[in-house]
Amino acid sequence: MTTPDEGGVVVTIVGSGSLLPSAARGSASHHIETPGRRILLDCGSGALHGLARRGIDWRAIDVVALTHRHIDHVGDLAPLLAAYRYDGRTRPLTLVGPEDVRAFLARLARAHGRWVLDGGYPLDVVPMGGGDVHRVGDVRIRAFSTAHTEQSIAFRVEHPQATVAYTGDTGPTHGLGGWLLGSEVVITECALPDPPNMDTHLSPLGVAKLLAECTPSVALLTHVYPPHDPESFRETVIDSLRAMGADGTRVIAAHDGTICRARAGSATVDRPSGGR
Ligand SMILES: [Zn+2]
Ligand SMILES: [Zn+2]
Repeated sequence: MTTPDEGGVVVTIVGSGSLLPSAARGSASHHIETPGRRILLDCGSGALHGLARRGIDWRAIDVVALTHRHIDHVGDLAPLLAAYRYDGRTRPLTLVGPEDVRAFLARLARAHGRWVLDGGYPLDVVPMGGGDVHRVGDVRIRAFSTAHTEQSIAFRVEHPQATVAYTGDTGPTHGLGGWLLGSEVVITECALPDPPNMDTHLSPLGVAKLLAECTPSVALLTHVYPPHDPESFRETVIDSLRAMGADGTRVIAAHDGTICRARAGSATVDRPSGGR
């Protein structure tokens, strides 16, 4: 099991994929482990078994944070809560989400059962909008409104040792790049090819523009829609960054199981799908 044994923050890509089925990629889900706290960013289909497959202690997750309620980001939330109930969880769980997260959970409870809201353990539901901050121990979770849906948010997970940010689904969003500044690691969606046929997802050029504004040590590309090739998207991002004179970021096409370790000012990748 991966632990932040020497300090720092450990990122594990649990689901690097999209809405479409894939033999190798689950839908969006990313695990962040700080010294003392474990946070799951999105809980798309495949997250539940993906956590177990990666040797991550799913029982020990303190916070589940949802960027928006599209099914490829929340599909395994009810199964995860069912597993906690069945397992006899007693430790508190914080569920962070967009502003309508309480209504969303109430609908899930109507569909599946009262246990969604009352599984026998303390459940703290925290709606967040742009600019909001929620503190858990020595971790600050900040939200920024993105262009993807009316309530979609990006997250910054800030720990004194490192900051990891996640765009969720976004599309070009004014101010997002500046808001990401200071992150050691940025997990970014890169759903569409250039030129994008909608403005609610990012393409490689859009990702490059975002990264040029925040220059993290490592950028992890996720959420590439089949049949597009994440490695070729990565090459386009790198070429675009170079053309902008902003090539200080190591760009990785994330796989399920990619692990990144961050500490102040730097980050390393354990199993890169391609390096530079
Ligand atoms: Zn979405
Ligand atoms: Zn999505």
